[in-house]
Amino acid sequence: MATTLFTKKTLGLETAEPAVTPPPANSNTTFVKKPKLAPAKSKKREIPEGLWTKCPRCSTMVFDKELDENLKVCTHCQHHFPIGSRERIHSLVETCTFEEMDAEMTSVDVLHFTGVASYISKLQKYQQETGLKDAVITGLCKIGDHRVALGVMDFKFLGGSMGSVVGEKLTRLVERATEKGLGLIIFSTSGGARMYEGMFSLMQMGKTCAALAYHARASLPYISVLTDPTMAGVMASYASVGDLILAEPGAMIGFAGPRVIKDTTQAELPHGFQTAEFLLEHGLIDSIISRKEMKARLVEYLSYLMARPKQSAAV
Ligand SMILES: [Zn+2]
Repeated sequence: MATTLFTKKTLGLETAEPAVTPPPANSNTTFVKKPKLAPAKSKKREIPEGLWTKCPRCSTMVFDKELDENLKVCTHCQHHFPIGSRERIHSLVETCTFEEMDAEMTSVDVLHFTGVASYISKLQKYQQETGLKDAVITGLCKIGDHRVALGVMDFKFLGGSMGSVVGEKLTRLVERATEKGLGLIIFSTSGGARMYEGMFSLMQMGKTCAALAYHARASLPYISVLTDPTMAGVMASYASVGDLILAEPGAMIGFAGPRVIKDTTQAELPHGFQTAEFLLEHGLIDSIISRKEMKARLVEYLSYLMARPKQSAAV
């Protein structure tokens, strides 16, 4: 009963808007129009929820369509909203060049972990919600004229946490890049290792870095791009060992959270601590690049970095 009351209320509020709805597709008589108002109303009830997004930085209400067209960057203050892995890949890669690797690899609940909810039920929930199998998408693609191995993490899947699947997919990607003599780019966003997999997730730190060491030995470049947030086990492994470490503006980057550090050191933390800007100033990051410029800059860097092995081979 309560729900019907609510719908009636919201419908009442929106009766002034029917003119906005597109004209009916297959209308013949005037009588047809009336029943058509019903589905139109229920659609409208859904639209306002996702039509505008409030920017957390400048508090402006940004039109969602505008935000999508602007690669999820606020049109007023350039705040970078989180972006899904597929959208990001789409914004970087040349059309139809992305060949996904290990698309069907899914996590296994080795430890039979059960907290508030079981790990298996969490996995199923996130798989349904996001349409992803796990927190990273990997594959070979072309960016500009360069064929590269690309890995992109997605924070929406269990906080971008690194479990066995994330570690394994990235390791295979790195190994494929080494084998094929390709440059490597990994976009990280993660809360850290996946606690549901205990030590198995921590093991991924060493595994990914070992694969990267072989990649580096083959004189191939690895560009690590840190996006908001990149923390803990991911930052302490593959995300921080790039030949070139880039970041998106305002990204939170670190190992332990600021509260833990403050409690441990008993010291006041400096302003802007653990932001991309702070880390650029202190030498951990090479450059901060806005999302809209990212592709052009990556092409530029790849041109420099990929030119090197050829020269050294010639000498
Ligand atoms: Zn803004």
